[in-house]
Amino acid sequence: MDVVRIRRELLEYLLELARDFYPNEFAGFLREKDGVFEEILIAPNPHFGRSSAFFDTWMLPYDESIKGTVHSHPGPSPRPSRADLHFFSKFGGVHLIIAYPFTEEDVRAYLSNGEEVRIEVVE
Ligand SMILES: [Zn+2]
Repeated sequence: MDVVRIRRELLEYLLELARDFYPNEFAGFLREKDGVFEEILIAPNPHFGRSSAFFDTWMLPYDESIKGTVHSHPGPSPRPSRADLHFFSKFGGVHLIIAYPFTEEDVRAYLSNGEEVRIEVVE
């Protein structure tokens, strides 16, 4: 896989969530339909805060349409932290990171091995 497809409405909603939660992080699971990410599922009791290790504390929902995750970084670096990479490798799929100041240019997508992939916005 060298590209991840995401619906424009979802991308804009994610940017909005990142801004709303700032200076904290937000995180959620991404649902895919026909090869396009269409929906976010926010976990009921996420441990929001400045640590990126919160994914480990989540109950992963059993849902076959969940193919990835998203979380924000309150700082300007969209690079995955060590904890992020550890989580990505356990979860598989595709992982979006949205860095401050949360515009479309601040979004990056990574595979479970940490490799960056291109994002294609689908109208
Ligand atoms: Zn992170």
